[in-house]
Amino acid sequence: MPERRDVVVIGGGLAGIAAALELQAKGRSVLVLEAGDRLGGKAGTVPSSFGPFPAGPSSFNGRHPPFWRLLELLGIAGLAQRLAPTSQARYVVRDAALQPLKPNPLSVLTTGALTFGDKFALARDFLGTKKTPAEGEDESLDAFLARRFGRSLTDHFFAAVMTGIFAGDLKQLSATSCMPALVTAEKEYGSVLRGALASMRQTEDGARPGLYAFTDGFGVIGDAAAKKLETRLNTRVVAVTANAAVTLADGTVLEANDVVLATEATVSAPLIAPWNREAGAVLARFPYAPIALVHWSEKTPGDSRLPQGFGYLTAPIEKRFALGTLFIGDLLPGGSRRFSTFVGGGVSPERAALTDEQLLAGVDSDISALTGGSAGVLVGVSRWPQAVFQPPVGHRAQLAKLEKAMSGCRVRLAGSYFGGAAMKDALNSGFAVAESMNGVATVAAPSAEVRV
Ligand SMILES: Cc1cc2nc3c(=O)[nH]c(=O)nc-3n(C[C@H](O)[C@H](O)[C@H](O)COP(=O)(O)OP(=O)(O)OC[C@H]3O[C@@H](n4cnc5c(N)ncnc54)[C@H](O)[C@@H]3O)c2cc1C
Repeated sequence: MPERRDVVVIGGGLAGIAAALELQAKGRSVLVLEAGDRLGGKAGTVPSSFGPFPAGPSSFNGRHPPFWRLLELLGIAGLAQRLAPTSQARYVVRDAALQPLKPNPLSVLTTGALTFGDKFALARDFLGTKKTPAEGEDESLDAFLARRFGRSLTDHFFAAVMTGIFAGDLKQLSATSCMPALVTAEKEYGSVLRGALASMRQTEDGARPGLYAFTDGFGVIGDAAAKKLETRLNTRVVAVTANAAVTLADGTVLEANDVVLATEATVSAPLIAPWNREAGAVLARFPYAPIALVHWSEKTPGDSRLPQGFGYLTAPIEKRFALGTLFIGDLLPGGSRRFSTFVGGGVSPERAALTDEQLLAGVDSDISALTGGSAGVLVGVSRWPQAVFQPPVGHRAQLAKLEKAMSGCRVRLAGSYFGGAAMKDALNSGFAVAESMNGVATVAAPSAEVRV
């Protein structure tokens, strides 16, 4: 006899955790099935004798309320710490040198990351004198930024900044999905910068200013979730039917009232395709970029000659080996100096598959070229073949198609790909899917082992 369950959530990343917690808060009985050996998905911690490194994300923006909703449901909002003042400086590589960018908007006038022409292009946007509206529903981030700010600013500056968010190729990414606020700003204000500043001044309920991190890294989310949710780890789902029957890799079948499928789009595609060809085809085309996150520390303090701060980013035009380096030890007070360097992404995906030794050698050559210092001790590498979702041009139209194809199904989808590519998108999607579901449990769940 197949086991009967109320709600089964497949995938214990941020989207799955958000959906499961919210459904549980609404009185549903939820079981989370996770293929890996811990909850949290890409949000995790790599412990080491140098201190914790991020397996994926390292900080979050307090302006996004879903983070606080998640942390409150988990009872760990008190663990989030505002980033240290020492982490405020950020650097952009320009002409093989680290150029500082201070949080003060006026630093734009003095930074060596921008030429005089770049500053003029910013001023022209700010004054709203450049009006060349987009053609069609969507365009690439590259086309949008070049249209507003010109080629130099786009290639040298925005390409670096966007690498820090999407690790992607701007020519492939959708402007409306990746940077909806900027696209709206252009439409409403005739100036991307003025619109962006106005939206930064608007605060949503539950928002807090600043960036936040956890002393023990993002792994605290999965650990706390495992204590709140009934979970089966190391449990890979191999099939799901339209009427919410779930088959596990060991052949066990669970029959549920509802299923939330919160895995990467490419994993969800073959699970959906046998009974919903259209939805499966849309999901299968959703692209991800791979990343290898190289964790390292200095052999002796000061070896890297990297300044204090949040980290640096490079644009593809600089032709560096890596996309950028996060100064993870500088984020919170008292951390020992340690670094995580991003390699691969949508621009150079093949590099994410290099060996650990090749990765460290590439990072070392970048540090040597940028500061004259060296990357010393390899601590580990976090490898993500499907690291960050890359919303392609026309993504919103594909999402509308997907939602239509899935409407009325007892199997619902969640994941960062519903928004842009970030944690907030994963959380929003998890909470939204729970919100869309009936709050009444119709089948009592049998008691089962809870892994903590
Ligand atoms: C290196 C890196 C850095 C990042 N930095 C940032 C950042 O600074 N800010 C930011 O906002 N975002 C960042 N992101 C993106 C962010 O991590 C993701 O948007 C978010 O974590 C995705 O959550 P998710 O729940 O949608 O998917 P996932 O985290 O991918 O969760 C999916 C889960 O499903 C499980 N699963 C897969 N197949 C099966 C199966 N068959 N059966 C059962 N379970 C299955 C997986 O094991 C996984 O746990 C980063 C990502 C990476 C990789």
